[in-house]
Amino acid sequence: MCGIVGYIGKEQAAPILLDGLARLEYRGYDSAGVAVYSERAESLSVHKAKGRLQVLSDMLQGGAALDGTVGIGHTRWATHGAPSDVNSHPQVSRSGKIAVVHNGIIENYAELKAFLMDKGVPFTSDTDTEVVAQLIDYFYEGDILQAVVRVLHRIQGAYALGIICADAPDQLIAVRKDSPLILGYGEGCSFLASDVTAIIKHTRDVGYMEDGEVAVLTRDGIQCYNHLMQPIQKEISHVDWEIDAAEKGGYEHFMFKEIMEQPEAMRRAIFPRIKDGEVYFEDFGLTKEYIRAIRKIYIVACGSSYHVGMVGKYNLERLTRKPVEVALASEFRYMDPIVDENTLVVVISQSGETLDTMAALREAKRLGAKVLSIVNVVGSSIARESDVVLYTWAGPEIAVATTKAYSTQMAVIDLLALYFARVLGTIGEEEYRAVLEEMLRLPGKIEAVLADRDDIQYFASQYFNHNSVFFIGRNVDYALGLEGSLKLKEISYIHSEAYASGELKHGTISLIEDGTLVVALGTYSKLFEKAMSNVVEVKSRGADVLALTTERHKAEMAKTANAVMTIPDTHDLLLPSLGVVPLQLFAYYVALMRGCDIDKPRNLAKSVTVE
Ligand code: GLU
Repeated sequence: MCGIVGYIGKEQAAPILLDGLARLEYRGYDSAGVAVYSERAESLSVHKAKGRLQVLSDMLQGGAALDGTVGIGHTRWATHGAPSDVNSHPQVSRSGKIAVVHNGIIENYAELKAFLMDKGVPFTSDTDTEVVAQLIDYFYEGDILQAVVRVLHRIQGAYALGIICADAPDQLIAVRKDSPLILGYGEGCSFLASDVTAIIKHTRDVGYMEDGEVAVLTRDGIQCYNHLMQPIQKEISHVDWEIDAAEKGGYEHFMFKEIMEQPEAMRRAIFPRIKDGEVYFEDFGLTKEYIRAIRKIYIVACGSSYHVGMVGKYNLERLTRKPVEVALASEFRYMDPIVDENTLVVVISQSGETLDTMAALREAKRLGAKVLSIVNVVGSSIARESDVVLYTWAGPEIAVATTKAYSTQMAVIDLLALYFARVLGTIGEEEYRAVLEEMLRLPGKIEAVLADRDDIQYFASQYFNHNSVFFIGRNVDYALGLEGSLKLKEISYIHSEAYASGELKHGTISLIEDGTLVVALGTYSKLFEKAMSNVVEVKSRGADVLALTTERHKAEMAKTANAVMTIPDTHDLLLPSLGVVPLQLFAYYVALMRGCDIDKPRNLAKSVTVE
């Protein structure tokens, strides 16, 4: 999700920009850059560097090397084009006069790029953002604001933009749609930033830009316009947070922030991939002939990604009728797997750097399989070495316990299953449409689950002092239980295990005694009656049952369980996407009540790059 900072005032801009970017570092990024207008040279001076902000800062002597009082800065978290110096922002137009920083994705960039290239415009980067800079330049006839507005009518997607033009060094333009951007009002200066953290040192008077708004920042103030370019008066809010709190966007923990970001992350993962009622993957390297010839699909991953793979197996097999195996990456690499050129190996990794998964990928390729990866970090090793990459576009995930990366991986694998089923003709028209429509509703339904979080906090307060917890469920609810159990144990250190409900009587049930907490998952409608039987079974042996089910089964479940968490009804295939959210919240609140170090649990690392 990266960071934007902009400044126009009387002081030197570069040190302010670099300091602002440093305060946005927590958001995660892979490269950084600044553009400042130099009055002496009467031109833009642009500096960018892949890697840590410190590299850029050293290059510019902390900003002292750059002269100028207006500028924009950016920390990039690559989505289009690998992290590199040229792909870093600001992106500059061919005349060298217009510089743009951008957070988000321009969905129709390919079309616009083709149009501009046809007109002879040369491109230097692989980013979607360069299209914005070049298009503004293309429309520029002496009035920068007018050119920007013409571009806004043509770009689609999500964007927060900061723009400067060498011909108009007394202003800085800001635009927002679906990506955060705030305005800062200072004495003789104005600011632009992705969040308050970046500028709180200079001003606490801020304005929150709304979608579709455009702002022109000058030394004397800020003029805002609505989407019709009618001037509007922005309400100014006074921020009284301390800097530390602001760094997590006001949230106490990154994990909670990331849980709350899931609706937005799901929109980014799903919406651009459903076009005209069909699943659409840009640059998808698998032909229809290849898909038809697949004899087996292997899903290979570690940790939570493996749990996504478990749900993926149920959904892929159900929709495509092709055999799917799920393997732990650390096992796969040494198990002499039966893989050939008609095997598709799907590897899943948030960071794209998980060493075991990387080794499994190489083993699969060596055996002649094609590898499709589902990865969050653009340009990561796994992404680079795969035959096909589907990015999750979840934005940087900082908390060790994954939440939004899990959800978006699940969305992507569901889209993949639907895409394959469509090619293979194994899904009926009606069901295909129904699932796609439901996928578009998922973000809104996740919002509804999040809005009911007080209930889950209450349940956590009832159960946080249990020493041992069992998660039980069947089919996708079993896969969901594995993730719920992992979330709980990794951050709260409570011993917890997930069992397929049918397995209880083969051993585990001997561990159930008075007061044992059992989290019973009963979201999967087809097996709801069976889930109920298991609830009765453990209750009659003294367990406390915290159940999870859908709205339509809530009343029935409440007759037996001690407490019930509910999710909205949805298509069966998509239940885990909703079901995981209460389980994440439950783990979070339990860990909070136990005083655990939620974002950095003991012994765990975010990206496991060792075997
Ligand atoms: N899509 C843009 C890129 O890949 C912006 C990424 C960001 O939000 O930092 O360059």
